[in-house]
Formats: sequence, structure tokens, C-alpha cells
Amino acid sequence: MKNNGNTIEKLVSLSKRRGYIFQSSEIYGGLNGCWDYGPMGVELLNNIKKEWWNSMTLRDDIEGLDSSILMHPKVWEASGHVDNFTDPMIDCKQCKARFRVDLLGGMLNEKRKKKSMKALLENCKDENIKNKIEEISANKNEAEIFNIIIDDNDLSVLLLNELNCPQCGTKSSFTSARQFNLMFKTFLGPVEDTGSAIFLRPETAQGIFVNFLNVQNSTRQKLPFGIAQIGKAFRNEINTKNFLYRTREFEQMEMQFFVKPADDKKWFNNWKGERINWFKNLGMNSDNLRLQNHPENKLAHYAKEATDIEYNFPFGWGEIEGIHNRTDFDLKRHEEYSGKSLKYFDEETKEKTLPFIIETSAGASRSFMAFLTEAYDEEEVKGEQRVVLRLHKKLAPIKASILPLVNKDGMPEIAKKIEDDLRFKFKIFYDDKGAVGRRYRRQDEIGTPFAITVDTQTLEDQTVTVRERDSMEQIRIPSENLSSFLLEKLSN
Ligand code: ATP
Repeated sequence: MKNNGNTIEKLVSLSKRRGYIFQSSEIYGGLNGCWDYGPMGVELLNNIKKEWWNSMTLRDDIEGLDSSILMHPKVWEASGHVDNFTDPMIDCKQCKARFRVDLLGGMLNEKRKKKSMKALLENCKDENIKNKIEEISANKNEAEIFNIIIDDNDLSVLLLNELNCPQCGTKSSFTSARQFNLMFKTFLGPVEDTGSAIFLRPETAQGIFVNFLNVQNSTRQKLPFGIAQIGKAFRNEINTKNFLYRTREFEQMEMQFFVKPADDKKWFNNWKGERINWFKNLGMNSDNLRLQNHPENKLAHYAKEATDIEYNFPFGWGEIEGIHNRTDFDLKRHEEYSGKSLKYFDEETKEKTLPFIIETSAGASRSFMAFLTEAYDEEEVKGEQRVVLRLHKKLAPIKASILPLVNKDGMPEIAKKIEDDLRFKFKIFYDDKGAVGRRYRRQDEIGTPFAITVDTQTLEDQTVTVRERDSMEQIRIPSENLSSFLLEKLSN
């Protein structure tokens, strides 16, 4: 089901229909790259964040933090974002659409498979570029030459001119590549001059790094220990696409683990395992998850080793979390730019050191989309199509619905009593409108694990039916046992 080309459209449509996700500022035509979480969406997002937060902070070696979104501008110089947080972009001269060069590379590769590199280069009119490509081509095969060219912004643009613009279809009309910084700039205070320019944070990590000693001193933690933070991040992405996958405003769940430099490998491997298991324990199929190591020549400027956890989205594999060995790069740079020591004092050895940092950086919004994709299912039941979100019980926005079979004969009164009893223990939904079959289908689409129905037998013996979402099996239990029944089922 998942890899049907039209699954994203189905997810978007279900999300709107059932109150998961709405387009931002929809009545004004929407705002590109921004989405709103509706009544169901905010519950699912909160449940994802709660599971993450608990998995991180219900242990004695990780502390929580909530640092501000706006930070001193020097933070972003020290972190390397001012110089390096850029994407190469090109514009179509015809329709002015803007593209990330590296993302168009995939399209070009498709073209290369149909047409040889030699034939592609024959069209190249720039002799300098032609010579340069001939130079690097010696003793290399087609794929190797292609990879070198696509990694080089100047060379790749020439090849990109082989493509028709994905937006308007015009051929050979791209500008040369320019570096585009992804940070959103704004101004602090009423004066809009360069001296007051600041950025919306593009990641939550830096708030953790600059608070490293504050947290350590106030909690007396010893190495190794971590700091966890959930919060919004903003990136002025050149192209937003694939629903929630690449947005301009999103939430991150980041945990930075500070270790003795000699222990970096051990902890890097430990967190790789822990993090992939977190996704599996919340219902993701192993076949849809994989770890992708970054090759050495593609590592970010701060990383010694890096792995992405990828999910098999309807459009293909995509990163949902990055795990990086950031070494002492960040603390060292913040020492350099602030002039303050960020060294850790080891009480036992009486030595001062800069710890290494193992980072686990997950997108809450991207994980949301992965969980939604994983849960979406369609099946035929008795000749009818059923759409069901098979969300893990811990993530489901609503845990149980309460449905009086008919809206009379005392059934609503009993159902309301059950609602009163459960309302403050579980997120529940009371629904007495329409045929019960339609009410079941509505809850299936929301992903509610249990539906409790009050029927004629309830009037006689105070039992209710409980229908389980995935199997659709129904059992009868005394209504007074509902609370303990749900507690047990939901915690298992
Ligand atoms: P990509 O290569 O897809 O742009 P990245 O490598 O820049 O991602 P990181 O900087 O490692 O991503 O950010 C950590 C996590 O934050 C990612 O794994 C992803 O889940 C999330 N994230 C990053 N950018 C976005 C975005 N534009 N929209 C939604 N989530 C994002």
C-alpha cells in the first residue's frame, strides 16, 4: 500500500478530513512550507514528543532544557551556520522557479541512464568546462564521472541545462548556481539595521551547547551525560515538498550526549541502536527503516562520523533522524567566539577537558509523517473499502470512542455515564450521530484503538461491546471494568 504513488495525496486528504493537518493560512491560499496541526494532529504530535521525552529524560544521565529560539548572532558565526548553512540554488530564467542543484541531480541521473554522458557533453558549448570534464574523466566510468560533476556546482549546472525546467518545461534556461543561506533573518528591537540582525534558530542544538556548563553545574552531572530539548526550528528551504517532509518551520527533538573523547565510538554506536529501536518500539516495521552511514567525503564540517536513520516514504527513502559524532567542534568554537571556557572539570583526575558530543537529532514533524505513512492502510471488508490508521496505541490521538447504538431507550444516558467515568483518565470521544457502521469507519480513519458500544444488552446486564480497531473483533465486558481494561491494553 505504502509505495503507491498516490499515497501522499491520500495522506493529505485524510489529514484534512479527520483534522490531522491543515494548510497554513488556507483561506488566503496557503503559505508554502508551513502546516497547521489540527485537533488530531496536535494529539499525535504531542504523543510522539512525549514518548521521545520520556525515553530520554526518565533516566538519570539525561537532563532536559528549553532554550530560546532567538540567540546571540555570534552563536551562528561560531556554529558555522553563517558561512556554511547554504544550499546551491539555480533559477529558471523563463519562469523564475528556484531549485536546489543537488535535488535536480536525481533527475539528471535518470536522463544519463537513457543518454550517455558523452552525448550529454557533446551539447556543451563552453570549451573551458568541456576541457575540465575531459581532464577529470581519465580512467573513470560513466557513473564516476557523473558523480564528480554533480558534486561540483559549476559543472553540474551545465549538465542541468540538459534538463527541461520541472516547473515550466523550458530547456536550457538555468542561471549559474549561487549559494543561498537557509537561515531566516530578522531584527531585534525597533531599528532595522545590520547591527540588530538576528536569526531564527535553524536547529535546537546550539541552545544546548551554549548551556552545557549551566546544566552541568546546576545538576552536578558527570560525564557521560546528555541534554535533551524539543523545539521549533526554521529553515528557509529552497524547495519544500512531500507534505511534512521538508517544511520551513518544523520541530526537532535533539539530545546531545557529552562523553569523554576516548569513549566517542562506543556511545555513537550505542545511540544508533537506541534510536532505531525507539521507532521500532512505536510500531515501525524494520523493513521500512534503515541506517545510512555518511561516506567520509560527504561529512558535515563538524562531524567525525555520521549516520542517518531513514524511513521508506512513499516517495522513497528519506532521513528522519541524524546521529553525529560532533567531536569537540562546537564547544571549542563557542569557547573561541565567546572567550569563555566551556571545559569540564573532572573531580577524580582533577583535569579539565572539552568533551566530545554524540548528537541524536530527530525531526518531530518528519517522524509524524513517517508514523502516519506507516499507519495508513486500506482493506476490503465485506465488499466495502475500509481506511484505517494502524497507529501504535501510545501514539493514537484518541484511545477509545463511546457509541450508544441508538440515540434513545436510555442508551445515551448510560454512554454518558461511561464517558464521565473515563473522560479524565483517557483521551476519549463521544459520538451518537448516524449509523454505528459509519461511526466505526470514522474512528478507524482517526486510528482510535477501541470503540465501546452501548446496546440493548447493556440495558439488561450492564455489559458493553469493545471493538478492536485492527482485527475488528468484538468482545463483551462489564462496563464497570472498562477503565482497568483500557489501562491494561494501552500500557501493553
Ligand atoms: P535534509 O538533508 O533532509 O535537509 P538535514 O541533514 O539538513 O536534512 P539535520 O540538520 O540533520 O537535517 O536535522 C535533523 C532532523 O531535523 C532531520 O533528520 C529531520 O528529521 C529534521 N529536519 C531537518 N530539516 C527539516 C525540514 N526542512 N523540515 C522538516 N524536518 C526537517
